[in-house]
Amino acid sequence: MRTYKIAAIGADGIGPEVIAAGLQVLEVLQQRESGFKLEVEQFPWGSDYYHRHGVMMAEDGLDKLKGCDAIYFGAVGDKSIPDHITLWGLRLRICQGFDQYANVRPARILPGITSPLRDRTGDDLDWIIVRENSEGEYSGNGGRVHRGLPEEVATETSVFTRTGVTRIIRYAFELARKRPRKHLTVVTKSNAQRHGMVMWDEIAAEVGQGFPDITVDKELVDAMTTRMVLKPGSIDVVVATNLHADILSDLAVALAGSIGIGPTANLNPERRFPSMFEPIHGSAFDITGKGIANPLGTFWTGAMMLEHLGEADAAARLMHAIERVTAAGTCFTPDLGGTGTTKGVTEAVCDALRSGNV
Ligand code: ATP
Repeated sequence: MRTYKIAAIGADGIGPEVIAAGLQVLEVLQQRESGFKLEVEQFPWGSDYYHRHGVMMAEDGLDKLKGCDAIYFGAVGDKSIPDHITLWGLRLRICQGFDQYANVRPARILPGITSPLRDRTGDDLDWIIVRENSEGEYSGNGGRVHRGLPEEVATETSVFTRTGVTRIIRYAFELARKRPRKHLTVVTKSNAQRHGMVMWDEIAAEVGQGFPDITVDKELVDAMTTRMVLKPGSIDVVVATNLHADILSDLAVALAGSIGIGPTANLNPERRFPSMFEPIHGSAFDITGKGIANPLGTFWTGAMMLEHLGEADAAARLMHAIERVTAAGTCFTPDLGGTGTTKGVTEAVCDALRSGNV
């Protein structure tokens, strides 16, 4: 029996609700597959933990996580604590501490889902956005002086390193190579940002020489938003900086139907550290506790986690079960225009797995 240690961190808002749903689905999948077992350990970190202990996660939290095979993460953020504390204290601490430099975000219109783009289906919108996840605009480099005075100054300096840019661009090329269309769009802003972004373009061209089988194009980030809406079928794999991809991937999931569907993997591709898997959405305070959070993004995230663990068959089976439920169109949460609940969608996916036809 192949056994994997999973650290589950529901954290804030709807995070614990969707992670509980995801673990339920993974449990049913394991029973059906029988070839592998997930040993799940729950960690109570997040904003409640901060209120009790003054920190978002245990001081030795990374040591505790180091031995696991993957981290299944909900969402972080709470109205009572500034965002930069919650984000840097938990999610970014894990991403940075474990050098999870590749943030991978698929977006696809699943069967039965209506995109806000008229008449578009999964044949037109099937993308993977690769986000640089360790430096760039979110490197935390900057400061403030003369706080509160009229002459106050704040700086937020982007950091692009040759190592950091090369590895993410290489990762994106390798991912594009695994896809049927073998197409990569490099997003940039080198017309206005003439240092880091120009180096980004140069490195993309250099790395691209090693991938003659991949078709590459370059797009300015502003033009990319238009292209995503008007010519979605021209896009396959996309690589962009931390900030650019953060924004583009929210647009991508909205175009794919709902932010509640999108998955994310924060990968340490060399596997020196565990990777972390989370739905793309945040804490969603407005629906927390109402039982209507869409768990599909967390299920898809679970499929990405299984794939990373080497359980490709189980991952495919889970995706089929998700698609079976969306195609039926009978159990949608309100974000998809339905009246369904987290529990109802979870049961429907579990039933599809149990039925044995996926
Ligand atoms: P963050 O800054 O952490 O990304 P945010 O507040 O900007 O968080 P979300 O928390 O993702 O964004 O929520 C944005 C909107 O999408 C909210 O109206 C929320 O209710 C909705 N939403 C997010 N996730 C889901 C979900 N799983 N199911 C249904 N609606 C969701």
